[in-house]
Amino acid sequence: MKTRRTRQLATIHEIVATAHDHPTAEQVCDRARRRVPRISLGTVYRNLQKLEEQQQVRVVHLHDRPTRYDGMLQEHDHFLCERCGMVADLAQSREARPNWSRLYRAGYRVRAQALTFYGLCPQCRRSEERPSRAGRDSAHQQD
Ligand SMILES: [Zn+2]
Ligand SMILES: [Zn+2]
Repeated sequence: MKTRRTRQLATIHEIVATAHDHPTAEQVCDRARRRVPRISLGTVYRNLQKLEEQQQVRVVHLHDRPTRYDGMLQEHDHFLCERCGMVADLAQSREARPNWSRLYRAGYRVRAQALTFYGLCPQCRRSEERPSRAGRDSAHQQD
């Protein structure tokens, strides 16, 4: 039989693994509460940390914004929309990489690398380009 702890860990893992919006710990906690009503944010943090150590989730650090969690395990880059906060997955681009052998010679040991691009997502860009139509067009509406 599964213990409470194991169930909590499995729930949190499933939430991150099936999310495509790179949720924050608070968002993971909100979603977990739908299934485990009294789960605390502290428990969520501890479980996220454990999952990160076990390499079952990835952590996305975004400059001065809250840490996000990612169920996509292969290396990839991110795009952060500075207006709506959406984080999109990008295939890793080879061109914009620092030269690893140069870093190595300078004494660094690189374990992993990830780039984050900052700007406007397509929806925010469209609404910015056509501010007069924004109301009528409702570019953010999704169906
Ligand atoms: Zn946006
Ligand atoms: Zn990602």
